[in-house]
Amino acid sequence: MKFLCVECDRQMQFEERQLPGDGTLAAAFKCPACGRVVALLTNPMETKLVASLGVKIGGRTIDERPMETVRGMVATGKASAFDDGERGEGRGPIWTVEAQERLARVPGFVRGMVKRIYADYAKDRGIAEITPTVMDTARSELGLEGM
Ligand SMILES: [Zn+2]
Repeated sequence: MKFLCVECDRQMQFEERQLPGDGTLAAAFKCPACGRVVALLTNPMETKLVASLGVKIGGRTIDERPMETVRGMVATGKASAFDDGERGEGRGPIWTVEAQERLARVPGFVRGMVKRIYADYAKDRGIAEITPTVMDTARSELGLEGM
């Protein structure tokens, strides 16, 4: 997750992060060129989602302690959340053509993340093949409407 200063076309640098403990997350990013600062604030649900995906903010993974409830959901919350390919941790579930077509309709910048959510969901439940039905079930079970 990175921010770009549109005016300067520079990648903003991570400046500080606060995780108050109530589940909200605040992270600040500063443009090295013009000094503009943007802050990212997520609500508890969004923080959980981001943390469970192992998305690094500012180069560091969010402290996972407050998110123990989602640990079981995604056991390997490390890096490469944006990778679109296989994770090299054994064989993942098979995607049916229909499921792949549906995944292809997901915007490119979140596709890898979404794919991983479904793959982890299937893996955790011993589902060998991801179909649109599995995606529907996963989506409602994980509360990821719109993915
Ligand atoms: Zn700037």
